[in-house]
Amino acid sequence: MRLTGGRVFDPEKGFVCKDLFVSGGRLAAGGEGPIVDLKGAWVIPGLTDLHFHGCVGEDFSDATPDGLQKMADYELSRGVTQICPAGMTLGEDTLIAVCKNAADHKAKSTHGAELVGVNMEGPFLCMAKKGAQNAAFLHAPDAGMLHRFQQAAGGLVKLVTLACEEPGAIEFIKGALADGVTVSLGHTTADYDTASAAYDAGARQATHLFNAMPAFTHREPGVVGAALDHEEVRVELISDGVHIHPSVVRAVFKMFGADRVILISDSLRATGMPDGVYPFGGQEIEVHGVRATILGHPETLAGSVSDLMACMKSAVRFGIPLADAVTAAAVNPAKVLGVYDRVGSLDVGKDANLAILDENLDLKAVLFRGQVVSGSL
Ligand SMILES: [Zn+2]
Repeated sequence: MRLTGGRVFDPEKGFVCKDLFVSGGRLAAGGEGPIVDLKGAWVIPGLTDLHFHGCVGEDFSDATPDGLQKMADYELSRGVTQICPAGMTLGEDTLIAVCKNAADHKAKSTHGAELVGVNMEGPFLCMAKKGAQNAAFLHAPDAGMLHRFQQAAGGLVKLVTLACEEPGAIEFIKGALADGVTVSLGHTTADYDTASAAYDAGARQATHLFNAMPAFTHREPGVVGAALDHEEVRVELISDGVHIHPSVVRAVFKMFGADRVILISDSLRATGMPDGVYPFGGQEIEVHGVRATILGHPETLAGSVSDLMACMKSAVRFGIPLADAVTAAAVNPAKVLGVYDRVGSLDVGKDANLAILDENLDLKAVLFRGQVVSGSL
């Protein structure tokens, strides 16, 4: 197949007009086959969401095979071709079941977005910044427990959130590194010095920057300042239009540069569902439009109800250039998860996972390994 006439994402140049060739499920340098005219369309790599909890009524923490499959199917239909779903603060047995479910899914699933990792957003968080997480299951940093999660997941755990002011945090970071897990600072009260020490020890990310951490102020720069001062650190950002003011989205891209920003959805099970009340980690959340809050606590955001494609589009609406938004939603997360050698850009040889958007950035079609899996060309 030859895709012609589209504006094609290039990580170095932004967008270029060039033909794409698909052969055997991969992007090729040339080839025969049907010619598809994509004049006026944007062609971007399939996105990777490394921090979302659920969608279409399902949550990763339910640890049900059917639920995880439904999530993978929905995400793929939205152009999110790689997923790294996030658990939350629950008991160890439950989280072990979540990890095992992920490993089973990876081994058996034959359709939907590709599961490329597991993100443990909990239980190693602090009480004061637990946000919507369940306080009953918060746990001090425990590398042994993380190792047990990693064993249950068959090596799929790629990310863990850490409140680095808790005792034992530095030892935990060393243990996580030995287990091949990237440590992301979040749900934390850490000040600048504490966060800097964690980054010096090997932490490499910040979990949903600004949310569930101290504010960035002129004498107390906190995690935000520490992340900024450590060039190798990337920051997650929820750009659903609820969690972060558009001005702050613009500021983060300017401060960190697009190469260090990871757009995430942090989406809940209510994503792709009507307004209502939904279960959430032993609590309940209330959803109105794009806003999801803990039931009875309308000021406590529980996560988002926008998928990553919608968040990327919001970022562009807020003034982020499309190429930068794609870098933050496709390139950077694939790099963090160690899969950029085969997905995350449209280079020859990579999987033909791509999303085709019309002039308004509405999704026209999704290709996964060269097959049209949603919409039409
Ligand atoms: Zn989350």
